[in-house]
Amino acid sequence: MKITVIGTGYVGLVTGTCLAETGNEVVCVDIDEKKVRKMQSGEVPIYEPHLDVLFERNINAGRLTFTTSLKEGLDHGDIIFLALPTPEDEDGSADLKYVLGVADEIGKLITDYKVIVDKSTVPVGTSEKVHAAIAKHAKCEFDVVSNPEFLREGFAVDDFLKPERIVVGASSQRAISMMQKLFKPFVRSGNPVIIMDEKSAELTKYAANAYLATKITFMNEIANFCERVGADVDKVRIGMGTDSRIGKRFLFPGIGYGGSCFPKDVKALHKSGKDHEYNFQILDSVISVNKSQKLALIPKIRKYFQDDLKGKQIGIWGLAFKPETDDIREAPSLDVIAELLKSGASITAFDPEAMDNVERKLGDKIKYANSMYEAVRGADALVICTEWGVFRNPSFGKVKQLLNNPVIFDGRNLYDTQEMRQEGFHYESIGRELVQNN
Ligand code: NAD
Repeated sequence: MKITVIGTGYVGLVTGTCLAETGNEVVCVDIDEKKVRKMQSGEVPIYEPHLDVLFERNINAGRLTFTTSLKEGLDHGDIIFLALPTPEDEDGSADLKYVLGVADEIGKLITDYKVIVDKSTVPVGTSEKVHAAIAKHAKCEFDVVSNPEFLREGFAVDDFLKPERIVVGASSQRAISMMQKLFKPFVRSGNPVIIMDEKSAELTKYAANAYLATKITFMNEIANFCERVGADVDKVRIGMGTDSRIGKRFLFPGIGYGGSCFPKDVKALHKSGKDHEYNFQILDSVISVNKSQKLALIPKIRKYFQDDLKGKQIGIWGLAFKPETDDIREAPSLDVIAELLKSGASITAFDPEAMDNVERKLGDKIKYANSMYEAVRGADALVICTEWGVFRNPSFGKVKQLLNNPVIFDGRNLYDTQEMRQEGFHYESIGRELVQNN
């Protein structure tokens, strides 16, 4: 099939590449000229595991091409995916200017039947707005479909190739048949393509993300309470998670959720509620608990250094909002760094993939280490913000030798508290016992 993907970020590029992988001819359109030039020369502009292999294979096979020309893209595809940003607007709502701006252009440029598929996360009712924006100028037939994306950064390729489900919100049988044909290779094992109306599809995405953010936040509150009463959140987590009604996943406490989706999607659903005179009380709490949770390590660090962080050197492991991505949007590490800098500490950080993005944002406000061990050389404490696999089994002997003081503040509960005691560290984590080295 002939496919066009507009917007080649984490969602668009993975969508385009994976659709090419099943034999479709895909043209990806982006307004970012530098990015398009990079992709045309065979360079993947983001870090996403396994994407590079598929990207190269499909470019070489001539099934995947890139352009800055929207017209060229629209002339090519029968199905047009919108994978455009929907960032948080000032009032918390999703800013639809990219989606509606492109819809307006599409109306002017299409000359024969197209299915316009919205993959961006958008509030209920957006497909009607997209339809209206295109219809204003279009002189041919078209259908608008809502197809929210559930891929996770870090697992995006696997998630796209083997989705647990695909949601298609549409009312036109012609469009539904085209979507079913396109997605058939991805659901051969029997996972469903769930067809529903456009509004329900749009809301499904927000409901799923808001639920997951709520689950994490609930667990973070349980962890905070564990610290007050001397319980161990790891044990509570396992005790709870074995109940199949609860499930084991998304129960790991830490320094809050971040990323390009949960924070903005929870706020957008909350604002959508307000717009329809519905107050999502539970989301109010999720938003405010997560804001304070991002700084959960700060009082512990301040207390350890007796409220005097001036001149202290802190090593940071992990900058990305989660492992296996270079994405730093709303990353808790940025809040931790801002707070430590404000208190007069200096910072040397290491992340396997996200350092360039942080350097673009923070410049020389912090130092960037070449390795995880360099980040702790001469530091007064190590602070862990992201649970990269490489941090899970470090040489504790080396870490201890390089640090000025054997002190670790772990925002992701990577280590066993008993082991840290044996290794002789002062070790503080989230919702578990405080390990003191004296
Ligand atoms: P992104 O910011 O990584 O990428 C967006 C791309 O769109 C950029 O390359 C940008 O240059 C391009 N763009 C902007 N305006 C354009 C225009 N007028 N024409 C062509 N290209 C244009 O965004 P993303 O993370 O891929 O997210 C896209 C959408 O998917 C958002 O609504 C997001 O909420 C949703 N989503 C994201 C994820 C995720 O994990 N990142 C998962 C599911 C859903």
